[in-house]
Amino acid sequence: MKPRTKMHHRVLGLSKNYLFNVENKMLSWAKVECLDHKGYATKSRVICMDCGNTFSPTLVSRKRAVCPHCNTKIKVEQSRKSTDKQKTYIAIAEICDEFQVIRNFELFAYYKVGKPVHYFISEILQHWILPNGKREVVARRHTVNWYCDSWGGYMEIQNKSDERKYDVYPQKFHPDSIFKTEYQKYGINHNLEGLTFLEAVKIVPDNSKAETLLKAKRYDLLGCYSDYNLKHGIYNYWSSIKICLRNKYKIKDIKMWFDYLDLLQYLRKDLHNAFYVCPKNLKKEHDLLVAKKKRQRDKEDAELKREKLLKDEKVFLKLKAIFSGIVFTDGKIKVRVLESVKEHIEEGDALHHCVSSYALKEDSLILSAKIRGKRIETVEVSLKKLKVVQCRGLQNKNTEYHDRIIELVNKNMHLIKERLKPKRKKDGTKKNVTAAA
Ligand SMILES: [Zn+2]
Repeated sequence: MKPRTKMHHRVLGLSKNYLFNVENKMLSWAKVECLDHKGYATKSRVICMDCGNTFSPTLVSRKRAVCPHCNTKIKVEQSRKSTDKQKTYIAIAEICDEFQVIRNFELFAYYKVGKPVHYFISEILQHWILPNGKREVVARRHTVNWYCDSWGGYMEIQNKSDERKYDVYPQKFHPDSIFKTEYQKYGINHNLEGLTFLEAVKIVPDNSKAETLLKAKRYDLLGCYSDYNLKHGIYNYWSSIKICLRNKYKIKDIKMWFDYLDLLQYLRKDLHNAFYVCPKNLKKEHDLLVAKKKRQRDKEDAELKREKLLKDEKVFLKLKAIFSGIVFTDGKIKVRVLESVKEHIEEGDALHHCVSSYALKEDSLILSAKIRGKRIETVEVSLKKLKVVQCRGLQNKNTEYHDRIIELVNKNMHLIKERLKPKRKKDGTKKNVTAAA
């Protein structure tokens, strides 16, 4: 973007003429402090990726070793790999005129066995911030999409409002970083992690909780401010977080810890008690509570089901009690009216169909056809039409007795019809029973 405003020209001028090239300084620090030092081990040898030399696996203890060639402390992985690539962002804070300047660098390291490491460092983005909060971005062009994330072109004024593209999370700030006292008083210094400098200056000054976390160097919790869901965890569980800070409790997995607190709350445990809030083995306690919650849920569900069933039975009896006791047979097949919601559920479960939903249907009467006590088919009779509307066996399929059952029900339909006849109350008025034929 071409510089247009006075501020653009001023920032670009300062950036070009007044900042020192610090790439070498950044690289010599970052090589040691910011990159992973790895070794790849097989049964017969360990390769130190830092110097490319090999040594004996006997020097490895607990996945760690000191390379006898370059004296680097390395982390050893079991792998046949012989190359590696690392990429990271690093930063340094400087003051230039009245600007706070945050200079960000991209660092690549390419490792190959037997070869020295190749490093590439390049300055990619500078924030220029005035005391009144006004700011500009000088950066290379940032291309971000599904396939690539790269910085190209030369350092120029960029669209500062596109923070997704023109703000980066540096892994670390160089210890020589200089921050203005107005930021230092909030605890913003070269230890800053979890938030970018821009996020930190936006959030911390108006947020006493964030300031507390920053001053306590709880960058793990501070990082929650850049995640919508986790940010709410900070507000919801602030008193528990304070217990964490007091006990210097290290949270291994923030997401899991908030999830664990949700569980504690659900199970009505004391969220002000370090015994619960700061578990020694978070994963273990978390999983225990997950199982406990499930058991409680199941219990509650079962109770709800039971309550609903009781309520449904009342409605059912109001509708269908008049048909109670109807049973008929042709000698082999015995057909009987189902007399409770529970019986409907059992019938549905046994024959794998959904007859249970018919129990409370006003127009339906459900009968079960059995042979020697074994369920064969379920029959639905329409009370309005006094007709069999469906007759189904296991998994909604017809059995060899299908036609015989329907015939048997039709032959005995008068038993149902009789019950539907309006009964006379003692005072002689008609009692409205149900949809009569
Ligand atoms: Zn080495």
